[in-house]
Parts: sequence; structure tokens; C-alpha cells
Amino acid sequence: MNYSIAIDGPAGAGKSTIAKEIAKKMNYIYVDTGAMYRAMAVYFNRHGIHADSEKEIDCAVKDVDITIEYIDGEQQVFLNGENVTALLRTEEAGKMASKTSKYASVRTKLVELQRKLAAISNVVMDGRDIGTTVLPDAFCKIYLTASVEARTTRRYNELKQKSVPCNFNEIKSDIEKRDYEDMNREISPLRQAEDAILLDTSDMDIEEVVNTMIKMIQSKKLEVDK
Ligand code: C5P
Repeated sequence: MNYSIAIDGPAGAGKSTIAKEIAKKMNYIYVDTGAMYRAMAVYFNRHGIHADSEKEIDCAVKDVDITIEYIDGEQQVFLNGENVTALLRTEEAGKMASKTSKYASVRTKLVELQRKLAAISNVVMDGRDIGTTVLPDAFCKIYLTASVEARTTRRYNELKQKSVPCNFNEIKSDIEKRDYEDMNREISPLRQAEDAILLDTSDMDIEEVVNTMIKMIQSKKLEVDK
């Protein structure tokens, strides 16, 4: 049996940074599911597919093949054979991903891929619906969140550090919009699984979050190994 850790939470809660660290410390594979929705979005953007037309999306999904490989321990996402990993973290891809992740055809295809990955390795998987839908039997589920203010400040500082021009209020409204879309869609909306542990990181730094989570995971693991 493989061990799965599910980490869900809203945009900007620090899931990927934390999940990556946890995976390293536990010697598990890190699976970034947001990257898969973003890769699908790159295809839609390139082909001029309209995000509000489910018919167009359903049709396009049939032509999309997403695969994952690990190179030097880093997840690489391939879109129809092309490594698109470097193209995924743009605002454009994020916006398209957030608008199209509500469709059944998109979710069905990606959830299948996510489950296959968890079936062959011990994984730390992060996303929005991992604990509720993708891996309901994960031995440890953590719902990682932070206030909108804290998440906006982190994003703002990150962009400032990279000298990317940005506006605090715009980032904030973008985060609120994304929260709304993720929490209010019909299929697999973002919510805390009943058996997930809630961790609010608003006043914590990365090291504190990682250490707290490792303790939670180890105690859960002792329970399942009994
Ligand atoms: O986490 P990230 O910002 O990369 O995710 C991009 C978008 O993909 C999210 O806004 C969300 O709509 C969608 N997503 C999802 N389910 C997941 C992971 C991401 O719907 N498991």
C-alpha cells in the first residue's frame, strides 16, 4: 500500500512551497495538481478556446494529453509531449485554469491522472479537492489556509522581490475572485474534508508550518501503522 498526504487550500496559502518541503523530508513524490489544470489552460489559450463555452472545452479536452515526469526530483508537465513546465506559473495560465477547472471533462481527465500517480508512489499531493475527491483515503489530510490579507501580502512581497510591477488591491481582488470561483463551483468545490486538520498559517513562517505539519503527519502515520 502507498501512503498519500492530501494538502488542500485556497490560492496563495503556500501549499506548493510547503508540500515540496514535506515531500523532501518524508521522501515522498510531490504532485502539484494545479500545474495540470494550468497545462490544460495553456492548450486552451493557445487554441483560442472560449472558457465560457463548455462545448468547446469538452471538444478540446479530447485532444489534450497531459503527462508527468520527474527530472532531478522536480515535477515536469508535458502537454501533448511538449514540456510546458516553464509556461505554467503565468497570470494568463492561472486565470484560464481557474475559469476552466469547473468543467467535468477537465476534472475527470486530470483526477484520473492524479489517482494513477498516487497508486504507484507515496505522494504529497496539493490542490483543491485532494482530500475530498481525488484521494479520500489519504492517511493525512491538511487544509492549509491564511487570511486574504496575509495571502495578498505574501504574493505582493514575492512580486516586489522579483521587481515585477504590482498593485496590492489588484492582487487582493484577484485572490478573492479565485477563492469565490474555487469554493462555489458545482463539481468538487474547494472545502475542508471532514477528516482534514485545519492549519491557519496567517501568522506563521514557512519553517513553523513545515515543522507543525511534519508532527501532524508523523502522528497520523503512527495511527495507520498500528
Ligand atoms: O494551485 P494553482 O493556482 O496552481 O491552481 C490553478 C487553478 O487550478 C486553481 O485556481 C483552481 O481553479 C484549479 N485547481 C483545481 N483543483 C485542483 C488544483 C487546482 O480546481 N486540485
